[in-house]
Amino acid sequence: MEPLVFVPFFILGTIFGSFLNVVIYRLPRGESLVKPRSHCPECKNKIPFYRNIPLISFAVQGGRCNQCGQKIAWRYPLVEIISGLIWGFCFTNLVLPEALIAVSMWGLLLVVAWLDQSHQKIPVILLLLTMFTALTSVILGASYWRLAVMGAIIGGVIPGLAAGIMFLISKTAGLGAGDLLLGLSLGIWLGPYNILLALILACGLTLVIWGVNFLRRKSTGDQAIAFAPYLIIATAIVYITSYYRNDLIEGLFFN
Ligand SMILES: [Zn+2]
Repeated sequence: MEPLVFVPFFILGTIFGSFLNVVIYRLPRGESLVKPRSHCPECKNKIPFYRNIPLISFAVQGGRCNQCGQKIAWRYPLVEIISGLIWGFCFTNLVLPEALIAVSMWGLLLVVAWLDQSHQKIPVILLLLTMFTALTSVILGASYWRLAVMGAIIGGVIPGLAAGIMFLISKTAGLGAGDLLLGLSLGIWLGPYNILLALILACGLTLVIWGVNFLRRKSTGDQAIAFAPYLIIATAIVYITSYYRNDLIEGLFFN
């Protein structure tokens, strides 16, 4: 890892992360993303730019609003750190157009995962932007179109068929249209191998969480759980490990 590249892009990523926090808060409330300026949700006081520095303001103010003392949600520093790591990782590992597509996609996915987990709903505009970003990746040549078509079939069509069969058997929709559209976009972006690995891993994660909830009697077992966050976490694991997978396999079998 190149610290001289990583650190500046980590900082830029935290600034992008604080914008993502605005999106996560305002989009489900139907508020404008640009106006009014950042304010405390409790006391409504505007936050001046020098007290709106990602991570640092949170740490200096001890995680509280400077005006009213209300606790600031831990989501704020967490999303900023994740976004910083995404930017640092992408700009040290990818060439420029690919890196720009990757940070846009991961920014969208972070918001989608968060909103689906907390509101059980993915705003349509985010799904459309995800599709748009995936197609841009193909148009700019960052993804090969042949692989994109195969990825779309595995990421969208196969889960669609599975959802159709589940619906015919149980008369409940196991996967929403949002999940299917997300799978389709991720398939186009990642290609067939990575989306297949991500889908298998996501199903495994979902089963584990469903099982744990069932055993703790938090769920009767027939409750729907949001699939998108697991698909996105699985995609992140596949995406990051794909950079080290060849070295890992070589190290295991050829040394
Ligand atoms: Zn306040």
